[in-house]
Amino acid sequence: MAPVSIPSALSFELLGKCSVTKARAATLHLPHGPVPLPIFMPVATQGSLKGLTPDQLEDQGCRLCLNNTYHLGLKPGQATLDAIGGAHKFQSWPHNILTDSGGFQMVSLLKLAKVTEEGVRFLSPHDGSPMLLTPEHSISLQNSIGSDIIMQLDDVIATTSPDFERMKEAMERSVRWLDRCIQAHKYPERQNLFCIIQGGLDLDLRRACTAEMVARDTPGIAIGGLSGGEAKDEYCKVVDTCTGLLPEKKPRYVMGVGYPEDLVVSVALGADMFDCVWPTRTARFGNAVTSSGVLNIRNAVYAEDFGPIEEGCQCTCCRSPADGGLGITRAYIYHVTAKETAGAHLLTMHNVHYQLNLMRLAREAILEDRYPQFVKDFFSKLYDGQKEKYPSWAITALKGVGVDLLSD
Ligand SMILES: [Zn+2]
Repeated sequence: MAPVSIPSALSFELLGKCSVTKARAATLHLPHGPVPLPIFMPVATQGSLKGLTPDQLEDQGCRLCLNNTYHLGLKPGQATLDAIGGAHKFQSWPHNILTDSGGFQMVSLLKLAKVTEEGVRFLSPHDGSPMLLTPEHSISLQNSIGSDIIMQLDDVIATTSPDFERMKEAMERSVRWLDRCIQAHKYPERQNLFCIIQGGLDLDLRRACTAEMVARDTPGIAIGGLSGGEAKDEYCKVVDTCTGLLPEKKPRYVMGVGYPEDLVVSVALGADMFDCVWPTRTARFGNAVTSSGVLNIRNAVYAEDFGPIEEGCQCTCCRSPADGGLGITRAYIYHVTAKETAGAHLLTMHNVHYQLNLMRLAREAILEDRYPQFVKDFFSKLYDGQKEKYPSWAITALKGVGVDLLSD
């Protein structure tokens, strides 16, 4: 049976609900300051966001970013983190940090990782010696990192796996591992442990897992194991099913999601928090995320395009010098992006701003109770008014929460 409920180091202030969809606007009060929800959290892999300094990340309005426990555990390592007093000090980041458990990184990065009831067994990438990541060790590492939100170790299976028994085992093991994480957590009064709902694409498994996880009463709740190549229709059903069973007054984090369309639809389905490496990774390939879609600035059509990456964008890169920005043009990025890191750096700045701003605008729309219109305008802009190009999964999912994308 579930252990006694653990203390919480956060408060969730629900500020508004959409009267049509399941979208919510809230303020999440964390140990390092308030965070507006819904939110996109950029991923700072090794204690720094590739292409952005902590100052620049702060300037973008980011108040919660994600660090990888696996990377920080390898370098600088737990002893150094303890000596320096955690990751906030290590990276000069005065705002909030969320860390993952490290398990997903191992299973995805290390081919020889093997999951047993004890934990994840793998070979050290340094010297090949056998190592074991247990729920207790993951929490101990995250306690040393000092992140404001820490994640349980879970047993993650690709959603596309056809093996129902293995999926069920992984879901049940994730519940047992949560209990071990709760027992091992040393600082519940200053670090918030989130559980992770598993169960693949099977809605009954998801429902059963949600009931078990909710009974543990963790400060926040994540929906995990998605964004693994499943059909978007299936993804939406899982998110919709889980949020329908979750307590209203807790933050809901859907892991690994970052495409603008996914964010806008997932917010309508009642999710509050998202993370993904995509906006920063795609910047390194010369891609700009804009409200009219992804533009590859390495394309020769931009060689003499002296406009900003996106007209009207308020990021440091796009704003004019008169406005305190850099006034960077598409032509400039075109010319530097192929051979220099400067281009990737500028695009990262723009892309992170785009994602943060998208969620900021969504929040305003929810607070003013016009989220359905916001969603319609978003899709219309993205597809240049061509409704026949709207993805069917988005039409279906939004219809399920009362928004008809195809109506005017
Ligand atoms: Zn911009």
